Amino acid sequence: MQCPYCGQADSRVVDTRSTGESIRRRRECQKCRKRFTTYEQISEALLIVKRDGRREPFDRHKLLQGIRIACGKRPIAMADIDRIVDQVEEHLFSLGKAEVPSKVIGEMVLEKLRGLDALVYIRFAMVYMAMEDVKALQQELERLIEGYR
Ligand SMILES: [Zn+2]
Repeated sequence: MQCPYCGQADSRVVDTRSTGESIRRRRECQKCRKRFTTYEQISEALLIVKRDGRREPFDRHKLLQGIRIACGKRPIAMADIDRIVDQVEEHLFSLGKAEVPSKVIGEMVLEKLRGLDALVYIRFAMVYMAMEDVKALQQELERLIEGYR
């Protein structure tokens, strides 16, 4: 299993857990020592339904990259991003569904980012959600501004 951080092919399994439909493995990279999570589906892979209706397998790395980009130069620890992806991934697989709309994932991430960093939250909302729900974003901005007063 390739390390999502440095690309190293060797990783060590530090924890294995069955979560009903999938097997969750916590792995540690043998090179950079960072930890990441993999899921092995007992049935078929979880499919993400995109806005245009196309389906693609859930890609943890892609989600991680998306959040990383939204984080930009904000002082967010890689461990925090990793933790968010872990939680979202776990939540996703716990739904026990074969297909999940990309919007649902976006909302899960936003919920986590809200407590982490306001700017990252807004960036992610604009990019990932493609400002699909402008009203919700506006409400969120107002809520944030209110909090800074
Ligand atoms: Zn590594």
